[in-house]
Amino acid sequence: MPRDGCVAVSLRRSITRAGYREAVDLDRLEQVLHGEPPYRGRQIWAWAARGAAGYEEMTNVPAELRSRLATDVPFSTLTLERESLARDRTLKVLFRTADGHPVEAVLMRYRDGRRSVCVSSQSGCPLTCTFCATGQMRFGRNLTASEILDQALHFRRLEEIDHLVFMGMGEPMLNIDAVVAAGRRLPDVGITHRRTTVSTVGWLPGLRRFVDEVEEPIRLALSLHAPNDALRSELMPVNDRYPLADVLAECERYFELRRRRVFVEYVMLRGVNDHYAHALELARLLDPRIYKVNLIPYNPTGMFDGSTRGAIDAFRDALMERGLVATVRLTRGREIAAACGQLAAAPPVADAAYVSQATPT
Ligand code: SAH
Repeated sequence: MPRDGCVAVSLRRSITRAGYREAVDLDRLEQVLHGEPPYRGRQIWAWAARGAAGYEEMTNVPAELRSRLATDVPFSTLTLERESLARDRTLKVLFRTADGHPVEAVLMRYRDGRRSVCVSSQSGCPLTCTFCATGQMRFGRNLTASEILDQALHFRRLEEIDHLVFMGMGEPMLNIDAVVAAGRRLPDVGITHRRTTVSTVGWLPGLRRFVDEVEEPIRLALSLHAPNDALRSELMPVNDRYPLADVLAECERYFELRRRRVFVEYVMLRGVNDHYAHALELARLLDPRIYKVNLIPYNPTGMFDGSTRGAIDAFRDALMERGLVATVRLTRGREIAAACGQLAAAPPVADAAYVSQATPT
């Protein structure tokens, strides 16, 4: 039985809005619109971006074209497979791509009215950070820009959304072109660039391009998790390839060029990276003019224990005493495995089984 306040439903029984199809595959749309006036594509995108449920709503598009589109261009690149709703109203959705890859996305609803969407940039992740569940599932492939946008548009059809983070499955800098192409369209969906954040382990080839090429004020977050190379390599094997100094140098270049601070994410692992000495080392490493630290309570994925609330607060205080801005991330949707690091699509199973699998044991 689903736990109290925690439900999972399949496509045909969407908890939030029944019977709609999903957003347009922009590449196919372009092919089908060949020969139409150039503004048609923009009209159709504008409808989709404002949350239209299908072509039939697009009343300024000729009816003949609408029905041709309905047969020729699926309204989405993704199929909705399951939804799970947490007690805090965090909504996690499992989609499938047309070729069968699982993709998860999360809608976080805050008391102050903020609606933040967490999207995936890849199905699975080829990196193997030890504390993250996504790295343990099989890597599928990079998602297309449409597949990324379709995650956001799914939620946009339910309600207005105003923030988006590339913090779902995958490493965005391994898929930089699609991530940036999707990011550039988000203002049409209601999400400004300043409210868009790309999070990375510090994959340098993509990060360098992000710094050089993205002039829009899209925010950058760095998953740091350790104040030195030895510990970081233990936790995140990618650090052997792109060591700390090089990654931080690139973040500093971002700051120089864009004049925007970099968020540092630091997941708090009990007895591993949460000692007072680690806080001191971190404070020495990070220039407070460039970095803000966000401490993340560890969400259970089986490998570690999370730091206590007391240890997290003491760590934050130690950073703040040394002039760094440090906050503690609010945990959302943990009991439906929708929290940071917990996205790892379970294989297709019956709904009830999915819920029990998604619930920490
Ligand atoms: N690959 C990118 C995008 C994923 S963001 C990146 O790593 O930045 C997901 C964030 O959640 C990252 O900061 C990641 O390190 C963090 N995370 C991973 N596993 C976690 C866990 N079990 N508990 C809390 N945060 C976790």
